Amino acid sequence: MATRRLPGEAWDELEDVEIGALDVSRPDVEALVVPNELVDGNVLGRFPRLRLVANYGVGYDRIDVGACRAHGVAVTNTPGVLDAATADLAFALILAVRRCLVAGDRYVRAGDWNAHWSAATMLGRDVTGATLGIVGLGRIGSAVARRAAGFEMRVRSVRRTAGDLDELLRECDIVTVHVPLTEETTGLLSRERLALMPDGATLVNTARGPVVDEAALVDELVSGRISAGLDVFAHEPDVPAALYDLPNVVLTPHLGSATVETRAAMTRIVVDNLLAATRGEEPPNRVA
Ligand code: NAP
Repeated sequence: MATRRLPGEAWDELEDVEIGALDVSRPDVEALVVPNELVDGNVLGRFPRLRLVANYGVGYDRIDVGACRAHGVAVTNTPGVLDAATADLAFALILAVRRCLVAGDRYVRAGDWNAHWSAATMLGRDVTGATLGIVGLGRIGSAVARRAAGFEMRVRSVRRTAGDLDELLRECDIVTVHVPLTEETTGLLSRERLALMPDGATLVNTARGPVVDEAALVDELVSGRISAGLDVFAHEPDVPAALYDLPNVVLTPHLGSATVETRAAMTRIVVDNLLAATRGEEPPNRVA
């Protein structure tokens, strides 16, 4: 069963897939496909014959992996195929925020070109040559680093096992977040740490909302001290209302992997994992 149909040709290789919700008890269902929906002990209790949860995404933070293990349910994800698309979106947000793209688009559409244009208005900040901090130099973070080389940026990075996050935050013009959401990374960018960012710096988050203290970020953005490009939020689809009218923020609705090619490649992986499980084989992208 899937909570929704996935895009791409690979989906048609599946037989007997039902589209349904997780809130109804289903003693017949053996595999679930979810785009990062909450799968906890309560949900698992409604699916007593379940053997596999295939997550449509690389981040599987909304799946209670411990509860799945306890119920003998395998969990799979879709790593690797979305690195480029997500890194591209991080860069799109960097460019949009630093070069006033959204505000400029609004002026043009409002017929305000002449009213707003002068040699000293709508001035962004150089992306080329800026110092970029990558928090989480994994698959996606490394793809961002490769793009940064083309912009002649100085790159600083931290991983779980290396690097000084406080130092990175003090030194960088732009900070982009690419860690998974775990107990350790919840609130990693705390109020105190956000305060280390220099005036005029930009935070980009295409990882997960709760990695950043959202209330503290809103305070920083309302004050106008820093700017941000945000694809993820603490309580999606809710976005803090205080952000709606701010000129120093660009907001997107969790679009990291949202391209035709990438979503089709993710579906391919989901289908391969389901077919392997059906044949009684180990699913290739098992994370638990
Ligand atoms: P990955 O390859 O596993 O890389 C994660 C990186 O984060 C690793 O370098 C890891 O360090 C680092 N890390 C983990 N815990 C840390 C900590 N406490 N402090 C500092 N660094 C830490 O993951 P990925 O495939 O790049 O994906 C990253 C995340 O992006 C996913 O989990 C998902 O939540 C998010 N994502 C979002 C979208 C979207 O639509 N917006 C799309 C795709 C992915 P080590 O190298 O030392 O282990």
